[in-house]
Amino acid sequence: MNFKSALYERLEKYAKVDTQSDEASVTFPSTEKQLVLAKILAAELKAIGAKGVKLDKYGYVTAEIPATIKGRRPVIGLLAHMDTAPAASGKGVLPQLHKAWKGGDIIISRRHGLILNTKNCPRLALCKGEDIVTASGDTLLGADDKAGLAIIMTAAEHLLKHKEIPHGTLKIGFTPDEEVGQGVKYFGVKAFGADYAYTFDGDLAGSIEEETFNADGVKITVSGRSVHPGSAKNEMANAARIAADIVASWPENLLPETTSGREGFIMFMDIAAGTEKAAIDGIVRDHDLKKLKDMERQLEAIVAAKRLKYPLAKIELTFTESYRNMKEVIVKHPKVMGNLMAAVREAGLEPRVKPVRGGTDGARLSFMGLPTPNVFTGGYNYHGRYEWVSLDGMNKSAEVLINLARKWAE
Ligand SMILES: [Zn+2]
Repeated sequence: MNFKSALYERLEKYAKVDTQSDEASVTFPSTEKQLVLAKILAAELKAIGAKGVKLDKYGYVTAEIPATIKGRRPVIGLLAHMDTAPAASGKGVLPQLHKAWKGGDIIISRRHGLILNTKNCPRLALCKGEDIVTASGDTLLGADDKAGLAIIMTAAEHLLKHKEIPHGTLKIGFTPDEEVGQGVKYFGVKAFGADYAYTFDGDLAGSIEEETFNADGVKITVSGRSVHPGSAKNEMANAARIAADIVASWPENLLPETTSGREGFIMFMDIAAGTEKAAIDGIVRDHDLKKLKDMERQLEAIVAAKRLKYPLAKIELTFTESYRNMKEVIVKHPKVMGNLMAAVREAGLEPRVKPVRGGTDGARLSFMGLPTPNVFTGGYNYHGRYEWVSLDGMNKSAEVLINLARKWAE
């Protein structure tokens, strides 16, 4: 099956719509402009013959591909997100297609001196001979996750045209605000009506993910005591310095920049500090819930020691739960990964199951009652100007989707 030209056309069309989400926003979706793409997608779903196409007030686009066989089969959801990361501009994206890449430098932008090659991205070497898509220097590409949208739309079009392919009912869901961690906040799992689902929001061809971090937020506040520095001896508690002391006391081997694979970390990402008051915001991450809790105890012990060291200050520490490792839910439904692995193998790839060093919409959905692992889309270097996607990888992903639909009908 070769869907590459349809996939490229769609990726280009979706990438050109700026759908950057915004962490600071208090509305949902976080940015109005995501609805522009939502409307385009809803119209396109209607045009390809999908049933029950809906765009609701939150910006969720849902639709159905009716079953082509009789008898009850599990209903399968297919999900991708419409927004792009706040970390890099998504305005005026101009995708460039580098056909049959031979292994040398890929010029993203001469003007910015942006070059993509196997030195600055060793993973690229896996895609020799493939068609590579990049942005053009000023923006991210937005293949995360417009590649996912294009894959689902293109595979859906194929399934709607070829009713001889046996499959049960399939549900499509396009969601806003994944990049700001709110993607499924108002998603009606019951109304969606799927028994299991897959997010198409991963990276290189063959990789599939059933495991995310366990994630908590951490906040430390320090109330100090401001005194004229000339008479501060034994009277002053400088909140800014105490905050710095706490951050510096956290072990260097438990930071995002010093860990990989299954190693957890605490990251202090925002510090606002003065003499009177300081606030530290951070995140705690580990695939293993027990280890996550152990790290939190370790930070509590550090803070307790600082309270003794700075008796004039008041130091408070709170943790809030963000999301949990979805593997806990997914392992209870072995067919969800079983069928996915078989679908990947049928597409001629060896599945690589790897833990995500992050979360997915699927993590939240799994705990909302919809087990949802994640499928590759063929891209890499997400959230920045070096982002790229292989059209061949996208094509494989569309094949996997079609294989999955058949598998669940068996
Ligand atoms: Zn994504």
